[in-house]
Amino acid sequence: MIAKIILRNVNQLFDYAIPPSLGTPKSLLGKRVWVPFGNRHTLELGVVIALADSSSFSRLKSIAKIEDSTTPLLTNDLVDLTLWLKNFCFCTYFQALQCVMPAGTLSTGNSKLKLNDKIAKHVRLKCDKPTAEALSKNTKSVLQSKLIDLLLQVNCVALADICSNNQSMRSAVKALQNKEIVEVFDKKVSRNSIDYNNFKPTKPLKPFPQQQKVLTRLTQAIDSSTYTNFLLHGVTGSGKTEVFLQAIDHLISKGKQAIVLVPEISLTPQMIERFIGRFGQKVSVLHSRLSEGERLDEWHKIMSGDINVVVGARSAIFAPLPNLGMIVLDEEHESAYKSEKNPKYDTIDVAIYRAKSTGSIVISASATPLIAHYYKATELGEYELLTLNQRSNNSHLPKVTVVDTRAELASGNKTTFSRTLKREVESNLARGEQTILFLNRRGYNSYLMCANCGDAIKCPHCSVTLTYHKRWNKLVCHYCNYSISGVTECPSCGSNYIRYYGDGTQKVEGDIATLFPNSSCIRMDMDTTMAKNSHAQILGEFKDNSKDILIGTQMVTKGLDFENVTLVGVISADLSLNLPDYRSYERTFSLLTQVCGRAGRGDKIGRAVIQTFQPDHYVIKLARNHDYLGFYNQEIIMRKRFNNPPFCDIIQILAVGKDEKILEETLRQAVGMLNIRMQVSVPKPAPISVIEDNFRWRVLVKCAATDKVRAMLATITDSFATKPDVKLSIDINANNML
Ligand code: ADP
Ligand code: ZN
Ligand code: ZN
Repeated sequence: MIAKIILRNVNQLFDYAIPPSLGTPKSLLGKRVWVPFGNRHTLELGVVIALADSSSFSRLKSIAKIEDSTTPLLTNDLVDLTLWLKNFCFCTYFQALQCVMPAGTLSTGNSKLKLNDKIAKHVRLKCDKPTAEALSKNTKSVLQSKLIDLLLQVNCVALADICSNNQSMRSAVKALQNKEIVEVFDKKVSRNSIDYNNFKPTKPLKPFPQQQKVLTRLTQAIDSSTYTNFLLHGVTGSGKTEVFLQAIDHLISKGKQAIVLVPEISLTPQMIERFIGRFGQKVSVLHSRLSEGERLDEWHKIMSGDINVVVGARSAIFAPLPNLGMIVLDEEHESAYKSEKNPKYDTIDVAIYRAKSTGSIVISASATPLIAHYYKATELGEYELLTLNQRSNNSHLPKVTVVDTRAELASGNKTTFSRTLKREVESNLARGEQTILFLNRRGYNSYLMCANCGDAIKCPHCSVTLTYHKRWNKLVCHYCNYSISGVTECPSCGSNYIRYYGDGTQKVEGDIATLFPNSSCIRMDMDTTMAKNSHAQILGEFKDNSKDILIGTQMVTKGLDFENVTLVGVISADLSLNLPDYRSYERTFSLLTQVCGRAGRGDKIGRAVIQTFQPDHYVIKLARNHDYLGFYNQEIIMRKRFNNPPFCDIIQILAVGKDEKILEETLRQAVGMLNIRMQVSVPKPAPISVIEDNFRWRVLVKCAATDKVRAMLATITDSFATKPDVKLSIDINANNML
């Protein structure tokens, strides 16, 4: 027997002989091993991903030693999955491996992870608040100003969290240290090992008839141990989570285990509470705050069969449970389930693959399932549909008021608050109840536009519109952080008729201070959530210190589960409705339904106010009535008419580089390799045609992404992988089509 091994630097499988002293070949599958490579004398770390009887190479080198002497880091089904992922998602072998292995375990020199990293460097303000605020307004550096802003909201953040994705942040911290504005200090970080004693044990509730019907079907599928793919359509509060808990209980009694996926783990404390409340120590929570060592600890615990339920975000789909029996995707419509970096997998595809190879069931659940999935359930039979259409606790869906922004403007109200919304906020303040305001945009005034030539002012490196931030009086690029200040004339035509358009979160924050001077308000958007954990910190601040108002972008629509929140205001529904994407109606509908469905989760009845220029738009009307089926029936007609998913898949082949001629030529060659009849666009610059001085060209292919098509696409990426001057990547049904 010989071993096929994935190594870091070359995108192919390498054959190695297995010395008898290393044990049976089979025991090596999924283990990390050290092998001699090339002419170098050092050993390379690799992973045994397949075994074969013989090799086409004659003089094979042998595996030198084993890193994982006892258990491998991958179960057998994950070993197969790695190879599948490489071809299914057009990435390299190593990228596929990185995705299924715990972080850090593949970096040479780091193969033995430090397990007790309890101290971490943190940064906090060293000066008083007014000094910090003044500096944030006056500094020329956007990053320094952002950091101060963040520290004004959350006290301290781990250095690693803010610098991991942003190296220039390190210099910003240094500069502020030199000015004695911030200090860096060692902080003990909790081991994140959850204190299971903090959770109150719960018992199964007696299922309502609808729940019982769903449960009966699920237990039947579990007992049969055959792959089944369910779509659970259940309105918010219909008792979906209770159904998962009881189905998992049954699963465990059969000696099997479950993976429960949520879109964003830091925003779902209640979910964790309920799972640990029911299953105690047998729950493993994989969240982004785990250090590499802690993650590996959890990994070993899961591998050993000691865990019954793994709860986590997208990447937890790769949890190495030895007896997998069920995979749940909660809030299955969320775009977080699609990975945007290599391998660009859609979690449902991975879930189905694992479920098929282990005889498991998959449950995708949502109050607003993806249109494509609902179609696959009702028309194609790719899912079995289950429905819960009543709220469990007899609470009512909130009362939704739609306000016509045009009428407000006509009557002379130019503020971001309609009279209705203002009145509702005031009455909430008077009653001591909390309000969430949602705005799909950050910055102060969104952008500067020339009233003479109509050009918006753009980033010279990225070809996207710059956003104006009042706080530091600058136009900032949200793609590369480029910034300029004091623009008084149009760069295109020289006219000085430049005007601000659109309102961002900061502007609304300012309006709140003016309109409701005695209220307390906290803001959550990309600027205030640079650090990994700051979402949760801000939500905690909102809840624990009972701030009156939470204002934020998209992210406030998730994790809204506060009893005292009785009012939700959508400042403008128009922006997301009018985005140039075939999914903009679907996303707006689901956003509005989710936002509105969340107000009044406690005993008090919730209210929602939606402000819009298009009050008669069917998306708004149907969302107002929480009418998913009505929306589905309209939307599926549009999808069919314009041949959009689910009637095809949209394949984007993107080429990035410095020379547009090369990009165009590369794409032509790539398209030439697709030899079946399909709808292919000519190579064109992408809507965002430049990022960080690199050009971006693409072709779009509309066809069903069958195995045959995917195989051709994998050949394309492999053959262009080493081509200099151009980076080619392929994504199917990408979230972001810009
Ligand atoms: P969903 O996940 O669909 O939003 P949940 O499972 O959170 O719904 O249920 C909503 C509320 O109803 C929760 O407070 C839950 O405890 C309660 N609930 C669910 N099922 C039952 C039941 N069978 N009997 C009593 N209360 C229930
Ligand atoms: Zn102009
Ligand atoms: Zn830029």
